[in-house]
Amino acid sequence: MTDQSHVAKEKERLLQEQAQLIDELKSLRELMQAEVDIEPDEGDAEIFEREKNAALIAVLESRLQDVQTALRSIEKGNYGICSRCGKPIEPGRLEVKPDATLCVKCQEEVERLSRRGRPQRQIQW
Ligand SMILES: [Zn+2]
Repeated sequence: MTDQSHVAKEKERLLQEQAQLIDELKSLRELMQAEVDIEPDEGDAEIFEREKNAALIAVLESRLQDVQTALRSIEKGNYGICSRCGKPIEPGRLEVKPDATLCVKCQEEVERLSRRGRPQRQIQW
């Protein structure tokens, strides 16, 4: 069961976040471009700043991708639905990871299975 008004609200929130991320990325990139001239004596601090900004850009970019993936799945109508068990994904989880396609239970299961490496025939009960 999908709650359409909830999804509409989520979409609104994601669009806002998307706009905000694009804005932040734009100003960070401008900052990076403006700081090309590095004075030798303050080089270390400058480099540190630039590395920090580059790391921040990477974080924001991956978040932006998550948000855009989520927006696409809203369009497709499968946002917030676990692709493994078909149950709704926990709202708290979607807030942290908007592009989540698995519920917490399935995610744990999948991670547990992949950690084990080679598939084994193991009866657990
Ligand atoms: Zn699931």
